[in-house]
Amino acid sequence: MGGAAPLASPPMPHDLVAAPDGGADLHVADGVRAPVLRDAAPRGLCTDCGVSRMEDPKACGRACQFIRPDYPGMEARVHGRARDPARPDELHFGPFRRMVRARLAAPRPGAQWTGITTRLAERLLEAGAVDAVLTMAADPSDRWKPMPVLVTKPEGMAACRGMRMGYAPLLALLEPARAAGHRRIAVIGIPCQVHALRALEAELGFERIYVIGTPCSDNTTTGNFHAFLDLLDERPETITYLEFRADYHVELRFADGRSREIPFLQLPISKLPADFFPLTCRTCVDYTNVLADITVGYMGGEGAQWLLVRNARGEELLSLLEGEVELSSPGSAGKRAGAVKGFLANTVRAAGGLPLRRMPGFLKPLVGWLMPRIGPRGLEFARARVEMKAVETVLFLRRHAPRRMRAMVPAHVWALVAPYGLAPGPTERPRPPPG
Ligand SMILES: Cc1cc2nc3c(=O)[nH]c(=O)nc-3n(C[C@H](O)[C@H](O)[C@H](O)COP(=O)(O)OP(=O)(O)OC[C@H]3O[C@@H](n4cnc5c(N)ncnc54)[C@H](O)[C@@H]3O)c2cc1C
Ligand code: SF4
Ligand code: SF4
Repeated sequence: MGGAAPLASPPMPHDLVAAPDGGADLHVADGVRAPVLRDAAPRGLCTDCGVSRMEDPKACGRACQFIRPDYPGMEARVHGRARDPARPDELHFGPFRRMVRARLAAPRPGAQWTGITTRLAERLLEAGAVDAVLTMAADPSDRWKPMPVLVTKPEGMAACRGMRMGYAPLLALLEPARAAGHRRIAVIGIPCQVHALRALEAELGFERIYVIGTPCSDNTTTGNFHAFLDLLDERPETITYLEFRADYHVELRFADGRSREIPFLQLPISKLPADFFPLTCRTCVDYTNVLADITVGYMGGEGAQWLLVRNARGEELLSLLEGEVELSSPGSAGKRAGAVKGFLANTVRAAGGLPLRRMPGFLKPLVGWLMPRIGPRGLEFARARVEMKAVETVLFLRRHAPRRMRAMVPAHVWALVAPYGLAPGPTERPRPPPG
């Protein structure tokens, strides 16, 4: 269960104010502003991470996760070494120094889980370690829509708590941040944003960038997400919180303080249109944000948060929470192979445009009861999800953009899907890294 208080943060005042660089920004809260950004340049596979809105939109060619990612090279540059499949769990989760279950002793109101992500950034601002944090607040017109904001005061981080669905141009904030004179910054981002940030980091001219990452999967446009909410409840506008929990339930919270748990098997997934998830989010290859200094997720946490401390800067970040975060060792139980094979069979049908195989209605309550008890749990659940994502990447890209397989699917993804009988064809084998 997410330990956060039930309601999202209260509505904030939004006014237009003059920005330091002369533009008219949206004032979201004290110390929180949303600069006016350039329009996005047209792109094919793209989650509008913001690079195409920068002064040089051609930077996409060097930065984009969807063009020719070099994960081993970038992992080595950021963490000092690439993932080592001989170390436990690195093939699945990328390089890390340690993995922990964690919760804030005092969960923050409005946070998605206990609020570790926003608290880390708040501590950086409190300690004066950064001048600004680049992250998302809720768009004033839609609580589910992410809006990129620059936060310069610790108390401003409260307006950023909680998960929004969709993507927004986070990295387009880099230039306004630099123009405002910020030299040391923190960026909170999802994997496709962090990949582009890391690719451009050296040329941006900041003195220091702390990168706090969250895992990400099954994202879609905010518009599509509203269609999903419409299927979940008669009054979707009253839903304030949604999370796919590691105990195989979706948790919903409502404006009146109620909450509801729906077993995964009862979700109306088969009613969603075939294009509900964009090809980007079906085929991205970094679920756990391997290029962040610290990844803050939940799926290996068995009801708590799950942290991957990836390098010395990640350790420095976690040390900021000393005395306020409770840490324990992650557990692991169950076996993932059966679940991943079932997912593979259904994904083969979905990738080919066929309807999903549905479980007979009378079996659903029984299987729904069994899954949290005998299904993969803890780290085994996280491994299962990473393998499922790898299977989905291979099947969907092969079907919908086969010519991109060689450039977009790195060797570690092939290693993850090998136990399930998937292997690269002659035109799909990744090229050896340059040099
Ligand atoms: C679309 C999406 C899918 C995710 N899927 C998984 C998953 O499958 N497994 C898993 O372990 N974790 C997943 N996460 C991350 C999970 O929600 C985090 O563990 C959680 O947000 C951190 O909890 P917290 O209480 O520390 O965060 P909080 O302190 O509440 O902070 C959340 C932070 O996330 C930022 N944020 C919110 N929405 C977005 C967005 N759409 N784009 C970019 N930044 C955003 C906020 O600005 C804020 O800084 C996902 C996150 C997103 C946005
Ligand atoms: S995701 Fe970012 S880097 Fe990739 S094409 Fe879109 S804007 Fe450019
Ligand atoms: S699922 Fe992948 S491509 Fe889509 S928003 Fe998340 S990290 Fe980006």
